[in-house]
Amino acid sequence: MTVTANLTALNTLQLAATAQRLVTVTSQEQLQAELAQAVAAEPINVLGGGSNVVLHKMLPGTTLLMNIMGREVLSDDGRHVIARAGAGESWHEWVLWCHHRGFHGLANLALIPGSVGAAPIQNIGAYGIEVAQCIEAVHATHRETGESAILSPDKCEFRYRDSVFKHPQGEGWIITAVDFALDRGAPVEANYPSLRARLSEATLTHDAVLASVMAIRRERLPDPVITPNVGSFFKNPVISLQDVDILRQNFPEVPVYPGPDAGMKVSAAWLIDQLGWRGEERGGVRVSSDHALVLEGCGASSAVPWLSLAEAISSSVEDAYGVSLELEPRVMGRSD
Ligand SMILES: Cc1cc2nc3c(=O)[nH]c(=O)nc-3n(C[C@H](O)[C@H](O)[C@H](O)COP(=O)(O)OP(=O)(O)OC[C@H]3O[C@@H](n4cnc5c(N)ncnc54)[C@H](O)[C@@H]3O)c2cc1C
Repeated sequence: MTVTANLTALNTLQLAATAQRLVTVTSQEQLQAELAQAVAAEPINVLGGGSNVVLHKMLPGTTLLMNIMGREVLSDDGRHVIARAGAGESWHEWVLWCHHRGFHGLANLALIPGSVGAAPIQNIGAYGIEVAQCIEAVHATHRETGESAILSPDKCEFRYRDSVFKHPQGEGWIITAVDFALDRGAPVEANYPSLRARLSEATLTHDAVLASVMAIRRERLPDPVITPNVGSFFKNPVISLQDVDILRQNFPEVPVYPGPDAGMKVSAAWLIDQLGWRGEERGGVRVSSDHALVLEGCGASSAVPWLSLAEAISSSVEDAYGVSLELEPRVMGRSD
């Protein structure tokens, strides 16, 4: 169906955005037909579950709501399994589908909102795991050329909350399906401190990890159905070892963890918390009082107050620590 549409119910910040033209995509063939008839000069936007976007008032051009479904096992040697999910599948339902069949690797990523097709975009991660660890291939169609391709993990250039799909050389790709390499014999991954704290030696099972991850998330993160949010609003900044030394001279207690590319990840939540932002409310958006990385809606209906609070937080962190914060959600559309 093709219509101008209000996107309020299609993004977890519940922002009142309008798509000039909204198309629900249910197959790759339909996607290719849509791309073939799209007006060259007009933007093509892609939306999954809307749980990691900040939408301005108007999304010009065509917005594709990815709803390609399907789950299948492609190969199974008794231990190693390759399984495919369509881009429109719910991420959490996919995690459960794999878990209940004994296909392990994804349990730590349970209850992350959104779709399978968006998972590679920022290489979703939680409780010591990143989705890239289980990706075998990404199926994609190019929004400008209509070309289809199967991208291997090295072509996806996965990094911490990042991939080629967030950069000019890869942002043209629209993901239609993802193949996962799963393992019936995978060891339990329970080294993340808050997860480990819940598990005794006797409960180091995949079932227990799944249940604990779900319990921790339900306790700690606001439910976007009740409280508008996108999870973490900022990425943890990655800085060099040299910059960590400089930071630690002034702030010896700053939490840092091993990061990608020989860098170190600094806890953005700690930096924000130390500056007293927790609970601060401006223009219908507040910093969660439970988690300094999470911004929550309390009345705002446009992107502007979200982005201005985020900007105020980033500037104060930069001034105090000389560290730049990067937004985790993607900003889409036009404010005028
Ligand atoms: C309560 C809460 C907790 C969260 N916890 C985590 C967490 O622990 N870890 C984590 O990594 N993230 C987390 N997130 C963020 C979010 O859930 C993930 O980033 C998720 O993968 C977004 O999926 P989506 O389908 O909602 O994507 P959308 O928000 O619809 O889109 C996000 C971006 O991906 C693009 N996109 C979407 N689908 C496709 C596609 N098929 N092809 C090409 N581009 C596409 C969009 O254009 C946009 O740029 C959380 C969010 C919330 C609300």
